[in-house]
Amino acid sequence: LHALPPEVGTGLETPALIVDRRIMQANIDRMQALADAAGVALRPHVKTHKSIVVARQQTAAGAAGLTAAKVGEALVFIAAGLPSVTLAYPLLSTTGLDRILAAADRQACDLRLIVDSLEGLSLLERRVAGFSGRPPGVFIKIDVGLHRCGRPPEDPLILTLARRIAGSPRLDWRGLLSHAGQVYAAADAQEAACIAEDERRCLTGLAARLRRAGMDVPECSVGSTPTVLAAARFEGLTEIRPGNYVFMDRTPLRLGLIAPSQVALSVLTTVVSVNPRYAIIDAGSKTLSTDRGAHGTSGISGYGLAYAPHVRDPLVVTKLSEEHGFVEANGIRLQPGDRLRVYPNHACPVVNLARAFYFLEDGRLTAAAVDAAGRVR
Ligand code: PLP
Repeated sequence: LHALPPEVGTGLETPALIVDRRIMQANIDRMQALADAAGVALRPHVKTHKSIVVARQQTAAGAAGLTAAKVGEALVFIAAGLPSVTLAYPLLSTTGLDRILAAADRQACDLRLIVDSLEGLSLLERRVAGFSGRPPGVFIKIDVGLHRCGRPPEDPLILTLARRIAGSPRLDWRGLLSHAGQVYAAADAQEAACIAEDERRCLTGLAARLRRAGMDVPECSVGSTPTVLAAARFEGLTEIRPGNYVFMDRTPLRLGLIAPSQVALSVLTTVVSVNPRYAIIDAGSKTLSTDRGAHGTSGISGYGLAYAPHVRDPLVVTKLSEEHGFVEANGIRLQPGDRLRVYPNHACPVVNLARAFYFLEDGRLTAAAVDAAGRVR
């Protein structure tokens, strides 16, 4: 992590998101190599970059498809012609289901959905009944410890849902899907590896039970960036869905899972005022978000690390108001007009708050749209 060379982006209005293109490409290639070596498909979550160009780069590198969180987000990538999208979010909206089924049909997209309740499955059955397109793939979401969505692995409802999905000619039964987001609260890489192995055992054990009950279970899909990076074994899994790896941030760094040289996203800011304690930058909560790391983990201090040219150690953004960031100056003399490069805690909400980012390559900046920014519906 370091400051941006002073000659880069001199005319750029700040705050501006900077994506180091070489680092991003290396992250994409490294994750694809990991998936290939493990014998699993890679289906990156697009919520991190929300960008069609980046999604195409992931697909060109070998990704089997994409993962999205919300209908509006998925629609951007389906409309752009990306051929396979999993919407890893329980859909309980008639309109949402109709929109996504119609869009997937129009674009001949291989759409995959999740359910974790009878209500969700019944609604999906009703919406696909009047729909003549290709049957959507359907996974049952399993709760592997985050306690957000999903059925606990021992829940008998899983077999009921699985039989109903597999028995429906309008649905394409795919299998089991999980996200061990509790990993963000792990203390270190070793604990992250244990969480990944627990998730793998949970899903493959459940798949074995369903198979003993006569069910075919074609797929077991897992994924978060920390669990995938920490995991020692992938046997029995068919797919991983990391998202954050494309940019990385202070969270995988804190867990010791990556080197600082793998962080691709930063925010270029300008010091707009100084006082004896703080340098005030032009990026506040509306740029950096107030995220301390996914799922409100508390292992990270402040709201970002700020690098000033000619200063070796980073300064911490300790407070935010909406449009101002408070950088604890620690006796370092900064001046209005200085540019600080801030590495945020959590890349995903930062990108969502922006409308564009700038690819940095060979000292030059090129603007790219955050195509699905703000698509939370
Ligand atoms: N899959 C699901 C269902 C998720 O919710 C997320 C992240 O929130 C991911 C995959 C990707 O995880 P990460 O951001 O750690 O790469």
